[in-house]
Amino acid sequence: MRNVNNDCLFCRIVAGDIPATVVRETERTLAFRDINPQAPVHVLVIPKEHYSDVVTLAEGDPGLAAEVLTTAAVVAETEGLLTGGFRTIFNTGGYGGQEVFHVHAHLLGGTPLGPMLAR
Ligand code: 5GP
Ligand code: ZN
Repeated sequence: MRNVNNDCLFCRIVAGDIPATVVRETERTLAFRDINPQAPVHVLVIPKEHYSDVVTLAEGDPGLAAEVLTTAAVVAETEGLLTGGFRTIFNTGGYGGQEVFHVHAHLLGGTPLGPMLAR
């Protein structure tokens, strides 16, 4: 049985209990549009299995971490981001501003994104 947390928002999206605009699905990953986009393209890429953050994912299943990156790269291509460039972010923990504790890569693009950090 794969690792699932029924109290987790993104596990509920994986289960189909909460709707999401899915842009790509593989056997072990899901990519869907962020509900509050910060750029013209703002997609979240997750493993279907529950890992709280990028540290536990990298430690627990490095192959799955690689699949998340591969899905992010494919979505970057299908969303037309390869020419202009894009940004990929894993917010982690309090200082990182993580709000949903199911690991997710933010894929942002479609416009110049400005400095990496707000100043
Ligand atoms: P974090 O701050 O944890 O890195 O990012 C969480 C992201 O999840 C935010 O960008 C937020 O807009 C997004 N989000 C929160 N709730 C939902 C939801 O129900 N559906 C979708 N598609 N995105 C969500
Ligand atoms: Zn989860």
